[in-house]
Amino acid sequence: LAVKGVQALSPYQPGKPIDELSRELGLNPGSIIKLASNENPLGPSSKALAAVRDVLDELCRYPDGNGFDLKQALAARYGVKPSQITLGNGSNDVLEVIARCFADPTSEVVFSQYAFAVYPLVTQAIGATGVSVPAKDYGHDLEAMAGAVTERTKLVFVANPNNPTGTVHGAEAIEAFLDLIPARVLVVLDEAYCEYLQGDGYVDGLSLLERYPNLIVTRTFSKAWGLASLRAGYSISSPEIANILNRVRQPFNVDTLALAAATAVLSDEQYLQRSRAVNAQGMKQLETAFNELGLDYIPSAGNFIAVDVGEQAAEINQLLLEQGVIVRPIAGYGMPRHLRVSIGLPEENDRFIESLARALDTLA
Ligand code: PMP
Repeated sequence: LAVKGVQALSPYQPGKPIDELSRELGLNPGSIIKLASNENPLGPSSKALAAVRDVLDELCRYPDGNGFDLKQALAARYGVKPSQITLGNGSNDVLEVIARCFADPTSEVVFSQYAFAVYPLVTQAIGATGVSVPAKDYGHDLEAMAGAVTERTKLVFVANPNNPTGTVHGAEAIEAFLDLIPARVLVVLDEAYCEYLQGDGYVDGLSLLERYPNLIVTRTFSKAWGLASLRAGYSISSPEIANILNRVRQPFNVDTLALAAATAVLSDEQYLQRSRAVNAQGMKQLETAFNELGLDYIPSAGNFIAVDVGEQAAEINQLLLEQGVIVRPIAGYGMPRHLRVSIGLPEENDRFIESLARALDTLA
């Protein structure tokens, strides 16, 4: 019954929920750690929690369909106009709306091998043709991606940093890439993990918007801002593009709790700094452990890292699950030797490392 593009789809595979593993293996949910979905290990910001509590009485009303307060707060923080912002039910929603607005079954959509799974998914769902460009050292080969653009190309997706590889391109490389893309082709720069880029490594797609009117930057509250459950993401683009996206998005795609929490967390600078610090420290902890275990990994700019555990990755993943540790196998991304692990709290990272060492021993 389904249309052709949808017939060929397989559903997005999320990280295994803690309750599911608990039921499967009879483990106490409290003893399970989940490092599988690039979530923020800190728990939500107290400012966000307070803001949610404040709006609970409004649950019987529709949310503010235009997200006035959140757009104001984003505009003030990032020096853009509210008319440039499109809010989404997570940035996944925005990615889907972009695909539906700008591509159709006659279009090609370019993305990188090992790119975020939602790009091929939304492309196929609308019947467009996905063009996957071979990666270079696991990262986007931006020149080759520009070279893959044809008359039929409508959209190019670039995740910077990319999930699941954690690879990132600097500002110069992104600019050089944008220079190669014809103005009639839209470039989506997915910056879901940009808040983890620090110091000289920070690449800010927003600073490129004026020079490249065909650029759309997408971001999320799910990662460094710690609100994955509430589903709040957004894009920043020219007002003209935002106006088009606004025609197609669901009228109330971000709910009242999400709007309140996202608006509040934007002023919780301390939370953001803690997210960054815990991530940087945990990343070092895992890199050190991988070095000690003699495992290769892909240096990552995100809040996760892909580690090469060898041909028995699926068995190792199973042994981790049996020890109550959930990480993400990424064979579905064409990386059957790697497991992707999200950076947790120091004690969670320790627990993962110990469980991994035990699994490697068991299979040795
Ligand atoms: N882009 C990338 C690169 C991601 O890794 C993710 C989350 N896995 C998203 C977008 C979507 O996140 P959300 O819908 O929670 O905003």
